[in-house]
Amino acid sequence: MSDCLFCKIVRREIPANVLFEDDRLFAFEDINPQAPLHALVIPKAHIATLNDVTSKDDALLGEMLRRAALLARERGYADRGFRTVFNANRDAGQTVFHIHLHLLAGRSLHWPPG
Ligand code: 5GP
Ligand code: ZN
Repeated sequence: MSDCLFCKIVRREIPANVLFEDDRLFAFEDINPQAPLHALVIPKAHIATLNDVTSKDDALLGEMLRRAALLARERGYADRGFRTVFNANRDAGQTVFHIHLHLLAGRSLHWPPG
């Protein structure tokens, strides 16, 4: 999608600290980190919100979760713990309308979230 911020990051039109890339996924550091590790795992294909996911995306979503766990492991947080979050629409505070899986690690995270 031409005017989507995260599509622009995938196309390298906007710089980001890239952590992982393959043919379907892209992962990069959040610009406003909320924990020592705060990464965003996204599909390269534009999907606006979790409401727009269909059964054809099941494998893609599985890959996103698995990739987040692998990134946490690479950084040494697998055993200590980490959190993965999708925000969807207004009440959850979604601000970028290209689905992204937040990966947070490196500090004690409160529950329930605010
Ligand atoms: P949301 O609130 O939609 O779940 O999360 C959007 C995330 O994208 C926020 O954590 C925000 O800090 C991050 N973000 C927004 N703009 C940029 C950007 O230009 N570059 C990077 N790396 N992250 C961004
Ligand atoms: Zn997009």
